[in-house]
Order: sequence, then C-alpha cells, then structure tokens
Amino acid sequence: TPRTLDAWLEHCAAQYPQRPFVITDERTLTYEEVTRWAARLADGLAALGVRRGDHVGMLMANHPEFVPLKFAIARAGAVAVPFNYLYRTGELGYVLAQSECSVLVTMTEYGGLDYPGMLDEIAPAWRQGAPAELPDLAHVVVLPTGGSAPEGVRTVEDLAALGDGDPGASDGSRAQPEDVGDMLYTSGTTGSPKGVLVTHDAVLRTAYASALTRAFEDGRRILFSLPCYHMFGYVEGLLAAMTVGGAIVPQTEFDPVGYFAGIQRHRATDILCVPTMSVALLEHPDRSAYDLSSLSAILSGAAPAPVWLWEQVRAELGVTEIVTGYGMTECGGAMTLTLPEDELSLTSQTVGRPKLAGAAGLPGSDALAEYRTVDPETGADLPPHTEGELVSRGPTHMLGFWRKPEDTAAAIDAGWVRSGDLGRVREDGYLEITGRSKELYKSGGELVMPREIEDLLSTHPGVSQAYAVGVPDERWGEAGCVCVVPAPDARLSADEVLELCREKLARFKVPKHVLFLAADELPTTPTGKVQKFRLARWAGDRVG
Ligand code: ATP
Ligand code: MG
Repeated sequence: TPRTLDAWLEHCAAQYPQRPFVITDERTLTYEEVTRWAARLADGLAALGVRRGDHVGMLMANHPEFVPLKFAIARAGAVAVPFNYLYRTGELGYVLAQSECSVLVTMTEYGGLDYPGMLDEIAPAWRQGAPAELPDLAHVVVLPTGGSAPEGVRTVEDLAALGDGDPGASDGSRAQPEDVGDMLYTSGTTGSPKGVLVTHDAVLRTAYASALTRAFEDGRRILFSLPCYHMFGYVEGLLAAMTVGGAIVPQTEFDPVGYFAGIQRHRATDILCVPTMSVALLEHPDRSAYDLSSLSAILSGAAPAPVWLWEQVRAELGVTEIVTGYGMTECGGAMTLTLPEDELSLTSQTVGRPKLAGAAGLPGSDALAEYRTVDPETGADLPPHTEGELVSRGPTHMLGFWRKPEDTAAAIDAGWVRSGDLGRVREDGYLEITGRSKELYKSGGELVMPREIEDLLSTHPGVSQAYAVGVPDERWGEAGCVCVVPAPDARLSADEVLELCREKLARFKVPKHVLFLAADELPTTPTGKVQKFRLARWAGDRVG
C-alpha cells in the first residue's frame, strides 16, 4: 500500500483511471484527470522554487481545484497548509505569518470576502513577493472564484502552464511516508490556532481505518460541506472516499437544499454532518420534494447529539448507517468511531471505540489509538473508568505544533497527547466526552464543571443556550457566571435562573452572576464553536 499522498493518488489512478473522483454540478474530474493536473501543478510549484519541506498555503473553499492542488503540494514534497477561509484580516494575518508559507494559493472571492483585498490590508506589497509583513511569502497564486484575477498575479491555470515545459521538475524531491504532509491549524476554540504537523503516513492510516471500521463497500460517494482545511472533511471525506475508489461531492457551503439536491443529482451514498446540520436537514420543509433514496450513511462528529436526533434521522431520512466519531487535529483526525450496527443510544451518548487499523495493509496494531484518562491538574494516572482528561497515543498522532515548543511540550507528555477534553472510558470500552478541562474553573477551591450547569439550564424552557464560565472574584478566586441566551419570546429573570441552580446544584456550583445576551453576541470560531475564553473575558468585564 502506498504510504505517501502523491503515491497513493497515482495508485488510485492506475486502479480506477476513469472513475469519477470529484463531482460538482459544473464538472466531474476522474482519478486520471486529477492525477495529471496534480503533476502539472507540482511542476509549476517546483518552477516557483518550492522544495521538499516548504510550506504552501491554501486559502480555498471546497472548490474542485482544491483536490489536484492538495496532491500537487504533496508531489512537490512540500507541506500543505490549508487555512480557514472564514478568517478576517487579523486572524488571517496571524496564521499567514506564523506558518511561514513561501507560496499562497487563494480565491479571489468567497462569501462576499475579497481575498486580494485582505492581503492588501495585511501586507500592501504582497504582489512584489516577500513583503515586510510576510517575508517568507514569495508568490501568491489566485483561483478566480468571482471577478477576474488581479493584474499581474498568476492564476492556478498559469501555475499549471508554468510546469508544462518542465515535466518531472519535482521528481527529485518526492516526499517520504514519515515526512510532514499537512500542517492543519486547530480551530482556535481555546486560544490562538496552532499549526499541527502530521505525516503522510498518519492521515492515510486514519482514512484507511475509517473504511475498515465502517466496512466501506466499493465506490462510495461522500457529500459534504465541511471544509477540507479541517480534518473532518479532509480525512473522512476526501481521503476516505479514495480508499474504495469512491467520489466526493464537495459543497462550498452548508445549505440543506444544497445537500438534498446534491444527494439526488449525484446519487450520494454518504454525508458528513455536525449535529446542528443534521437538525437543519430534518427540519427543512422541502426535504420530501427530493429523492434521497441513494443515501445510506451519515457520519457525525465535533459535538454531542441528542438521542431523538438519530432516531428521526433513521426514520425520516432512511439512513441505515449512523456513526459518530471523535478526534482532534492533534491526533490526525478521528480516532474513535461507533460502529454502524451499534444501538443509537451508544451513537448519541458515546463517541465509540478506537478505529480498527490492523487490516489496512499498513504496518501497526489493531487499534488506531490507545487512550486513558489522567488527573487534569497533575497529569497523574486515574483508576480505569474514572472521569478525567483524555490522553492518547498512536501512529497517527502529530509530531508537534509548528514553532510552538512550549505548547508542544505541554501537549505531549511522554509520548501521550493531552486532549484537554474530559471524558471517561466506559466498562464496555466506549468513550464518553464530557467537556473541556480548560473550561473548568475553581470557586473557593472547588473545581466546577461548566457542562453540568449548562445541561441543567438547558432543561429550562426559557433557555435557548447557556454557558458557564469563571470570572475573577476577590473573595473566591473565581466565581461562576452563567451567560444565557433566552429562548425566543421567553421572559426570563436572573432570579429564576439562580433559583433553578440552587434547587439542583451543590452550593459551590451555584453561579454568582447571571448575564443575558443574544445568540449573535456569543464569541465563536469561524466554524461556530463557542470560545469560552473570550466569553469569560466578556463576562469578567461586565461583572467586575
Ligand atoms: P483549539 O485546540 O485551537 O482550542 P479545537 O480543539 O476546537 O481548537 P479541533 O482540533 O478542530 O480544534 O477540535 C477538536 C475538539 O473538538 C476536541 O478536542 C473536542 O473538544 C471536540 N470534539 C470533537 N469531536 C467531538 C465529539 N464527537 N463530541 C464532543 N466533542 C468533540
Ligand atoms: Mg484542541
């Protein structure tokens, strides 16, 4: 089995040259076409001076060009650094400088954002190459996604043409399995995003393990809007499809009707969703107007889902295979999955067991990862099945964070990667995730688990969302503050909120402050995860 991304694509193209690989409403690319295009783009990158180990940034939505470009970067021996394209100038400037990319491929427009315009703000002289603010950035290449390319700036087509006369310029620098192939930034839910270094071998293992654990049959068609700059779309969408000569049907944004129409038109068998997306699909009034009979599987991750959701998804969408996964960028994608045949209560209450890896044709053990829980404060071992911070290790885990030696040292403890997530390994081996350790706070010396308060408050009909954070307090060190988004038309008072807490919670857990805010005031990552550290600052400013 090939163990680098570029060798793997060539292997697939030799096996299924004419099969569709990337399908959109506008066009279909076969495996052979993607491979040919990737080779030309790789030569183009080499002509721009890209060498083995260099960083090439990708600021692109799920456009079909993403795929050949991704493999071209691998073929040139370089590291693909896909950025979150929802970032605004401040966030983008940070990751562009931090990543030290020598080439950036960017769209001209997406969702009303003007990317060359953003570069103008970040580094006005970017067209000349190596601007003062981004001294490593020698070249910018654009994908015209709206309007035309700015004058004098190379397009992706130009890049491919550049490689035309120089076939194989990149051949001397092909990547090895243990080379870093991807540097993916974490979501930035708990702080600044960190560039996670993962090898070619790691992401291939994660993808193969999914196919094995889920017993993929030949030629699956996976439709998803989850971005390829994130492990979920990249590994469970793009790479997983390749394990069985399947195809992806990438969407550039989430829209329930886009999912329905895409499933119907392209006969998709699989979709990837986060729980809120599954809810949106179920609740959409136009669903019954579409033929969704090809759809048989749904993979959910990133957040917990209520049990009613999966029962309805099975009944109303006719999906027979419902699977939940858990992972993080630092462990090379999803390390656990529930099994297609698991009871739905397991699918909603747990995130499954380690993926199987044994028969993937790659050397290694049967389980893709090992994990256990430790004391979140001291890192000390806990008795089996006790709730604590989850730590894991395995062949897909990261080498470390790019240029963050202190964070890397804090994240990897004697070979075990700390997750910052709290959880428990049940007696049956299934893993439960209960919260994040960074979100705990201490009031009067007692550790408080926000999730317990949040789950309690969300049972109140007047509450749409509730988040508990610690704020500085002279007497207690920290005091609890709940930030409540009231349900539409609800008339909810702080006293009512506190009364419910006093009735159901131990005294030290009862928050001292209650703040109300609107849903759009919640600080979130561009992908919609609530950033508690910013919420805590916001709350601290208000009560302090
Ligand atoms: P940062 O590390 O920058 O703060 P992040 O942890 O949100 O951001 P990712 O690596 O994208 O960045 O997300 C991984 C995290 O997502 C996990 O550590 C966990 O907290 C959460 N997560 C993933 N899958 C699930 C799941 N099935 N259920 C609950 N939480 C999940
Ligand atoms: Mg994280």
